[in-house]
Amino acid sequence: MHDAHDEMNPLLAAEARFDIAAEALHLDSGISKILRTPSREVTVYIPVEMDDGRIEVFTGYRVQHSIARGPAKGGIRYAPDVTLDEVRALASWMTWKCAVVNIPYGGAKGGIICDPGMLSQKELERITRRYTAEMIEVFGPELDVPAPDMGTNQQTMAWIMDTYSMHKRHTVTAVVTGKPLDLGGSRGRTEATGRGCLFVTQQALAKLGIPADKATVVVQGFGNVGGQGARLMSAAGMNVVSIVEWDGAVYNPQGLDIPALLEHRRRTGSILDFPGAENMATDEAMYLPVDVLVPAAKENVITSANAHKIRAKIICEGANGPTTAQADPILKQNGVFVIPDILANAGGVTVSYFEWVQNRQGYFWNEQMVNERLAEMMTASFHDVVTYADKHNVDNRTAAYMLAIDRVAFTIQLRGLYA
Ligand code: NAD
Repeated sequence: MHDAHDEMNPLLAAEARFDIAAEALHLDSGISKILRTPSREVTVYIPVEMDDGRIEVFTGYRVQHSIARGPAKGGIRYAPDVTLDEVRALASWMTWKCAVVNIPYGGAKGGIICDPGMLSQKELERITRRYTAEMIEVFGPELDVPAPDMGTNQQTMAWIMDTYSMHKRHTVTAVVTGKPLDLGGSRGRTEATGRGCLFVTQQALAKLGIPADKATVVVQGFGNVGGQGARLMSAAGMNVVSIVEWDGAVYNPQGLDIPALLEHRRRTGSILDFPGAENMATDEAMYLPVDVLVPAAKENVITSANAHKIRAKIICEGANGPTTAQADPILKQNGVFVIPDILANAGGVTVSYFEWVQNRQGYFWNEQMVNERLAEMMTASFHDVVTYADKHNVDNRTAAYMLAIDRVAFTIQLRGLYA
């Protein structure tokens, strides 16, 4: 990896982290070969009649990186720039994420090259249903369980569930997660990723001896993860002093009123000019000397060009891939305690797992039960990772990858190679 373009490439980033952890583990070269390649890749061409009567053909992918620990699990994204390389990288990320939180899944990812913003609901429905029909032997509660990702949502999951069920001649809710509550979704799923961020941040603060009620927090991204994360951290007594969005940041050293800020953004379309805060430049807010920085907007925001400016003691990676591999050593050298994405934002996939369990049980849990079990799993996983880091004298990200790779490799060795 040499230039800035490479630094931003998700496949190279995934490989860089894998290589560092595999070397530290002295991973067997044969197992390493298996884990570096996906176990299955499917490409489908999806003919769809558009609203104006034209026929278009869309390209769709599903990559199953590993099914060693259980069914493949991972989202489906709809975006114009989806590539097979990106889907491969994201599929391997899912394997490691599921293994870090020790849920019985492998990893997968899917995508369709399309621009959801330019398509009608009817066109999106036809694309989704035909993609699902093409994947009828690939998907399944015991095989491969998709979920929403960029450009897809609860409605997309409802169409997949319905199409799959029509082919099977009975309702199969457990084929996808992230469904609407009325179709077998789980209570607590919407807040799960932000809530998971809260739990691991509380553990990190305790480990560093920072009282949670004195902790100051900056959150980048006020969407599902960042909005819920900020709300829950603030409700838990932390001082969320700044929210950073694409068009600017707001700052109040006494702590922001997050529910009021959510309401302000809903009304005005922006977080800026909030009566309970002053506007601030995004750069200034990102580099405030706070206890916790939660990058929860998008990938590649902390890079080799700006990592040295970060003054937060803890980074809780709510987004996927917010830190580049080149930024890792800079943060390490500066003593920043990083809670890596595959741990920090795994609350979402953990509650997806709970959704799948509830669907298969045919028995639905109340929200308290979902949240308690999430707390239990996130807390245990946090301690698994930091114990591993201390024992092997590596940073948290390397430890999380080592732990995940070790778990998957152990399963492959136990199962052995067939034929
Ligand atoms: P979202 O679209 O709901 O929210 C993203 C927010 O970030 C939006 O408010 C957007 O305006 C803001 N944003 C975009 N560009 C920005 C910029 N340059 N600076 C500051 N803010 C910016 O998305 P989300 O579901 O909250 O996901 C955010 C990240 O978390 C993504 O990386 C996603 O892959 C990851 N993630 C999400 C989940 C989940 O359950 N939703 C689970 C795991 C990981």
